[in-house]
Amino acid sequence: MSGKSDIKLIENGVRLDGRKPDELRPIKMEIGILKNAQGSAYVEWGKNKAIAGVYGPRVMHPKRLSNPTESTVRVTYNMAPFSVEDRKRPGPDRRSVEISKISSEALSKVIETHLYPDTSIDVFIEILQADAGTRCVGLTAASLALADAGVPMRDLVVACAAGKAGGEVILDLFKDEDNFGEADLPMAIAPRTGEVVLLQMDGQMTNEEFEKGFDLAYNGCLKVYEMMKQALLAKEVQQ
Ligand code: ADP
Repeated sequence: MSGKSDIKLIENGVRLDGRKPDELRPIKMEIGILKNAQGSAYVEWGKNKAIAGVYGPRVMHPKRLSNPTESTVRVTYNMAPFSVEDRKRPGPDRRSVEISKISSEALSKVIETHLYPDTSIDVFIEILQADAGTRCVGLTAASLALADAGVPMRDLVVACAAGKAGGEVILDLFKDEDNFGEADLPMAIAPRTGEVVLLQMDGQMTNEEFEKGFDLAYNGCLKVYEMMKQALLAKEVQQ
């Protein structure tokens, strides 16, 4: 996120991939795609491809980690070696540990964890193809998978990023904008209450730009929320 590049990321209000500043990438969602997980979802978001699978609530292993008053939400975010241009070294790294942590914190805000003491709810997010914004795509897939598994939640979690590239505040950065832009602002909300359950920022923006980016990301989340409801309804109709 150097912000230093000769590439013109936005010209006459049009971005390198043809989008307007406040436009999302095309999004496709599918629920219940894995036979062996209790709940699952596949999300394609621009060139990102992510699968989420959910197990639980189930007895916590190892037992010493169990919480006698509530269920523990454990998220494992993983990027496949073939998900990026140069092969990614397999296995966890600092970035995946961080994304797993913030994702489990965000999901814990909406899951009725008090109903299932001493258990764990295990969520696995696999990024098959990455093109910036994968934490938002992964969280959205995880939330759909939890709903598919029938895990009681007060709300869905919906995620979307905004940021700054080519000097403009824009919605849903793709890889070139993330690489050569000035800032990235991923957000996740619980749309029914409006609670912000994740907010991070990488790069630099003025206060005014931050506020604009915040509103853009929030409204982006609301658009994604509508798609999530449609995808969940479509699954229900199928059954
Ligand atoms: P997010 O995917 O949530 O935007 P980052 O900002 O950390 O998270 O990453 C931005 C993008 O950079 C990723 O979506 C991916 O395309 C790329 N990327 C991240 N980690 C690696 C890596 N280890 N190797 C190659 N590309 C990576």
